[in-house]
Amino acid sequence: MIKITIIPGDGIGKEVMNAATHVLDSLELNLDYIYASAGYECFQKTGSTIPDETIKLTKKTSATLFGAVTTVPGHKSAIISLRKELDLYANIRPVKSYPGINSLFKDLDFVIIRENSEGLYSGLEDYTREGAVARRVITRRASERISRFAFDYAKKTGRKKVTAVHKANVLKKTDGVFKDSFYKVGEEYPDLEKEDFYVDATAMYFLTKPQIFDVLVTTNLFGDILSDEGAGLVGGLGLIPSANIGDKQGLFEPVHGSAPDIEGKGIANPVAMLLSTSMMLKYLKMEYEAENLEKAISAVLKNGKVVTPDLGGNYSTMDMAREVSKQIKIQNHS
Ligand code: NAD
Repeated sequence: MIKITIIPGDGIGKEVMNAATHVLDSLELNLDYIYASAGYECFQKTGSTIPDETIKLTKKTSATLFGAVTTVPGHKSAIISLRKELDLYANIRPVKSYPGINSLFKDLDFVIIRENSEGLYSGLEDYTREGAVARRVITRRASERISRFAFDYAKKTGRKKVTAVHKANVLKKTDGVFKDSFYKVGEEYPDLEKEDFYVDATAMYFLTKPQIFDVLVTTNLFGDILSDEGAGLVGGLGLIPSANIGDKQGLFEPVHGSAPDIEGKGIANPVAMLLSTSMMLKYLKMEYEAENLEKAISAVLKNGKVVTPDLGGNYSTMDMAREVSKQIKIQNHS
């Protein structure tokens, strides 16, 4: 049995997680789910947004599936704490168009790899007499590590080009280190094409010619912003999965939050969570099952009938999950 930690969290996090376990069950895998809590409701019960037991459990199991949490102002962010505690330094966010989705572009398939452990999200903020200051920490070690991760990812997945995104013309020292590290590590990968763009130009190219991208690697804040822009290119937050990867652990989560505006209505789109689940299966070396799941999701989207309101349908989260499970059964028998 492979043990995985399940953290449903709050709001629609719980609803899309129910969809994920339903679909996982239909794949009939040898998985043992161990539930743990984090987030707003957890804070109300225990006084902590991310209890030590939850962190300990994620370190012991083979992977973690995370729904979404509601932020508790002034308290630790559960997801940022987990990324730090498990040293999940690489955040992978695919930007892929699926047939049947009303999106800005129909032919996109690129991946953003975001450095997850430092940059402007290092948590080094201080009030000063004039206002406040945040420190943007960029180390050679983390820049080389994320560059190597991006090149390895490109090689493993048969991609051809890696683009580094930075702002080294203004952030000369910090992004100078990042850019130099990218090209230094890149020398070890002679078969891959390398290029670098400024982040502002990249934001424009996302809108004017996103087809040029294959794998992008960038620092924490730029990656966060560009990946939401990427989500907008291919149909919105309900569709975008992500993986947080370290040398020992992996945590998989939809990009969206707990969506209080639709919480409890049972209409959250489960696709981002299901695609995150597929990324987890790939990480656990269940390549066939991961592809089987993605193919089933793609078929349900293409068919366009049993879909949630954000995709123009009037079906529920669980209706859509059941449809994906049904599709998996059809694929298994064909
Ligand atoms: P959100 O992602 O929860 O929602 C933004 C909008 O997108 C809402 O209108 C929502 O209804 C819609 N939406 C999101 N996911 C959807 C889905 N699966 N199906 C259909 N519609 C969907 O962002 P928000 O409203 O800014 O944040 C709500 C709470 O979630 C906040 O407390 C925020 O801090 C937190 N948050 C948590 C995470 C996380 O857990 N990783 C990520 C982002 C936001």
